[in-house]
Amino acid sequence: MATPTPALSALIRAARVIDPASGLDQINDVAVSDGSIQAIKPNLDLAGYDRVIDAEGMILSPGLIDPHVHLREPGQTHKEDIESGTRAAVAGGFTTVCCMPNTSPALDAPEMVEFVRSRAEQAGHCRVFSVAAATKGRKGERLAEIGLCLDAGAVAYSDDGDVVESASMMKSVLQAVKQTGKCFMQHCQELTLTNGAAMHAGTVSAKLGLKGWPREAEEIIIERDIRLNKAIGCHYHIQHMSSGNSVEIVARAQREGIPVTCEASPHHLLLTHEAIETHGTMAKMNPPLREQSDIDALKQGIADGIITILATDHAPHTNDEKRNTMSDAPFGIIGLESALGLYHKALVEPGVIGWPKLIELLTINPARLCGLDSMGLGSITVGGPADLTLIDPECSWTLKESDLMGKSQNTPFLGWNMGTRSVMTMVGGQIRTERAISSVV
Ligand SMILES: [Zn+2]
Repeated sequence: MATPTPALSALIRAARVIDPASGLDQINDVAVSDGSIQAIKPNLDLAGYDRVIDAEGMILSPGLIDPHVHLREPGQTHKEDIESGTRAAVAGGFTTVCCMPNTSPALDAPEMVEFVRSRAEQAGHCRVFSVAAATKGRKGERLAEIGLCLDAGAVAYSDDGDVVESASMMKSVLQAVKQTGKCFMQHCQELTLTNGAAMHAGTVSAKLGLKGWPREAEEIIIERDIRLNKAIGCHYHIQHMSSGNSVEIVARAQREGIPVTCEASPHHLLLTHEAIETHGTMAKMNPPLREQSDIDALKQGIADGIITILATDHAPHTNDEKRNTMSDAPFGIIGLESALGLYHKALVEPGVIGWPKLIELLTINPARLCGLDSMGLGSITVGGPADLTLIDPECSWTLKESDLMGKSQNTPFLGWNMGTRSVMTMVGGQIRTERAISSVV
């Protein structure tokens, strides 16, 4: 059990405080004590704090929230565990992560949700909430213990890693999740179109002689689920959207008033299927990397407010596993330490969105998706929890293996230069990571 350290009293001085939930974007001091925010005002008295942090030139954001990570515990702790995954999270500026249920056994029962909660508390790095399985064992055959998992603290439901394949089961899932008031997160993959495929169906798969994974595999499931959900009205959320066409399908449903949201991941905004030729299995993702036209459409979807959430899909695998052939290697890459720099590169540097919008997509929007805003997460509010991320908005650093705090190093982004980074992560008033910031006291 980690020793509980007393909550710090701290003054973060002269930061650009961006809180999209309240519309605040102003130079301010933020005072923290007993785990919560005490004041947000310019020129607070510096006396009487354990720490005064000079944050001139820095952005102070609500603690970043990642609604889609794989922590691999229980069952695959050689890849990652709750301790190592949350250590990576705070290193990347995340104060809250929501973990997916594709563990072994699956997170499909209240005792599993309780297990994750207690392991996260022992680790003591950041907040962890469970996305519980929608079907027992994620097999798509019968409903999981959805109501009991809600009572145990599940914040959403998903069979991620797998799609809910049967339309009839999907209808039951949407009806059951609707009763909880939570959202269902779909991994959109039509299986008969993707069986044996390792990458996007296009010129590169043809050249390499690999079976291709068409965009329609994603689009068909989204279309089906939206149609099923029309009469049910469950909050339906699309995970890791990869196809540009999916944006238009979602936009249409949103215009009709059907409750649909979606997320994008760093790799789908920065890499195309051509990355397979240089990075091999390190660029093997589910859903796969697609084409520049898809990247452009996803970015436009973000600019237009159709895609409202960013999520890493942090998916650790060992180097040995990734050294397999394209067909045999597992899908996915890690993402927590590089996410902020990569989102900035994809979205802020080219002027798709500005800092306040980026922070909105990383804080209050995922908080609302998972109902965490009711706990005060995702915003900077007097009296609310002191979950804060201090960001250097103009720096230059290169992602190296030594920056990776989790157990696995599977990322094609090693060696990439980034122009922003979190410099301090505070969870419940306690500093969990800190790098190169000046302290007055
Ligand atoms: Zn998935």
